[in-house]
Amino acid sequence: MGWPEERINRAFKLARAQKLDALLFFSPEFVRYLSGFRGEGILVFGLERGFLVSDGRYLTQAREEAPEFDFRLSRSWLSGTAEVIKNQGFEKVGFEAEGIPYIGFQRLRELSPGWELFPLGDELKTLRMIKEPGEIERIRRAIEIAEKAFLEIRPRIRSGGRERDIALEFEYAARRLGSETLPFDPIVASGPRSALPHAIPSARLLSDGELVLMDFGARAEGYASDQTRTTWLGEGKGEREEDRIYQTVRAAQEEAIAAVRPGVAAKTVDRAARSRIAAAGWGEFLRHSTGHGVGLSVHEAPAISEDSEVILEEGMVFTIEPGVYIPELGGVRIEDMVLVTEEGVEVLTSV
Ligand code: ZN
Ligand code: ZN
Repeated sequence: MGWPEERINRAFKLARAQKLDALLFFSPEFVRYLSGFRGEGILVFGLERGFLVSDGRYLTQAREEAPEFDFRLSRSWLSGTAEVIKNQGFEKVGFEAEGIPYIGFQRLRELSPGWELFPLGDELKTLRMIKEPGEIERIRRAIEIAEKAFLEIRPRIRSGGRERDIALEFEYAARRLGSETLPFDPIVASGPRSALPHAIPSARLLSDGELVLMDFGARAEGYASDQTRTTWLGEGKGEREEDRIYQTVRAAQEEAIAAVRPGVAAKTVDRAARSRIAAAGWGEFLRHSTGHGVGLSVHEAPAISEDSEVILEEGMVFTIEPGVYIPELGGVRIEDMVLVTEEGVEVLTSV
C-alpha cells in the first residue's frame, strides 16, 4: 500500500496534542490500516519512522506487505518493542489501549524505565471513521459477496430448514464466493428465538407461521459488511402482530436513513428510528442503538446512538439497524449499510 502518509499524519495529530513522540498499535485492524501488514505484530511509530515488531514467521510477509517499515525480529514482541523505544530515545509513548490485555500492559510497564506510557482510547476511534475511496470499494465488494451468498441460500429459509444448517450454508457460499474469514458468525434465529438480538443458530427447525431473522456479512481485503433481513414464513402475512412490528421497524429504518447527511448529529439519526418505534408503543423493546460504523472491524466508530457526539461527515460508513424484540413472540431487525455522501446518503446494501 506504500507509506500511508495521510493516515499516519492523522495519527500523529493526536500525538502532537499530547506531546507524544511515539505511538504503539497492537490490534490487527490498526496494524493493517497503518502499515498494510496483514500478519500479527506490534507497530511502533516515531515521528519519522515506523517499525514493525514481529517474529520470524512473518519476516517474508512483512517485507512484502510493509516494505517501508523497519522490521524488527523478536520472539518476545513486547521486549522487541521496548528495545526499539529505548534505541530511538522515545520518552512519551502513546499506546492503543484497547489493543493490549492488562497483563501485556503490565509487562510493557516493567520494560519501560525511562519512558512514559499514555493510553489512547476514544482518540483513536475517530482515526478510521472516514473511509477513503479504496476502502469504500472494498466494503462494496464485501457487501456484493454477502448478498450473492444470501440469495444463493435464501431458498433454504423455509419450513423444515435448520437454523444451524442455514448459517453453515451461508458461510460456505460466502467463502466460496471470495469472502475472507467471515467478520462474524451468521445469525439465523427463528420463531421466539428471533427475539434474541444476538442469537446463536441452534438445531431448531423453521416452521410456517413464524419470523426468521438472519444477520450476515462477508469480508473483502480486510473490510467487513453487516446486514440483517427478517422474513415471515408461510401464510397469514399482513394480519398478525409480527407484520405490524415489521412495518414499524421498516418505517423507522426509512426515517433514520432519510435523516442521514453531512452535518447531522449521529444521535439525531438514532432518534429518528427510536421515536418512530416508541410512537408505535414498542419503545421498550428496542434494545440496542440504531447503528454502528463498519470497516476493518464490524463494529467501529461512528456509533449511531443516543449518547453519540459524532457529527456525520462525507465518507462515513455505518449500519442503520432498528429492531423490536418481544420475548416469546419474536423479533424483527432490518439492517442496511449506508455511506454518507456529499449530497446526503447512499444505501450500499440492496438485497
Ligand atoms: Zn448485523
Ligand atoms: Zn450491525
